Amino acid sequence: MAEQVQATQAALVRKAQPKSDYKPADVSPQRRVQSRYTMRLWSVRHSRGLEWFYKHFANTFLLLHPVWKTLGYGRVERPIKFVERNVKGLMFDCRMCGQCVLSSTGMSCPMNCPKQLRNGPCGGVRANGNCEVEPDMPCVWVKAWEGSRTMREGDAILNVQKSVDQSLRETSSWLRVTAQAAAQRAEAKAGQP
Ligand code: SF4
Repeated sequence: MAEQVQATQAALVRKAQPKSDYKPADVSPQRRVQSRYTMRLWSVRHSRGLEWFYKHFANTFLLLHPVWKTLGYGRVERPIKFVERNVKGLMFDCRMCGQCVLSSTGMSCPMNCPKQLRNGPCGGVRANGNCEVEPDMPCVWVKAWEGSRTMREGDAILNVQKSVDQSLRETSSWLRVTAQAAAQRAEAKAGQP
């Protein structure tokens, strides 16, 4: 009984799996290389600077809205997505969910949570702050909390996030946020006397 209390959910699930000689090469938690986390952790440590940068970056993108509109959002999507995927992939291990919440999660991407939780950790965080599914990986939500504590608007982490809309995968968050902000701005202007 005492042994069961200490076992994590992932360990129990693993134990219940049928025995097999096939061990997939890329999905074993331990096979994820430690260096993959280096940049991700750096980004969390520098969340305040990145928050500042992101804010200005978003404003610049919004300023360029007439350019995107003239060229066509559909036409610029491909190159923008290429840059977004590579830059955010390097810095945050971005999975291109298309609905970025980094500014509300201490610059720690919640899509790296093996359970893809968008509103805080599950009950399986290990005593050392690592993930129960990937024991060598720091829990993305523990890191999210740490990152949010250094940000100016870090309390945004307390806002409840919508569940992931899978239909937005592989689309550009940058363009979506920009187009939405432009539409809101136009609406606000139209509503003015
Ligand atoms: S929240 Fe989505 S878009 Fe933002 S870094 Fe994570 S996977 Fe990429």
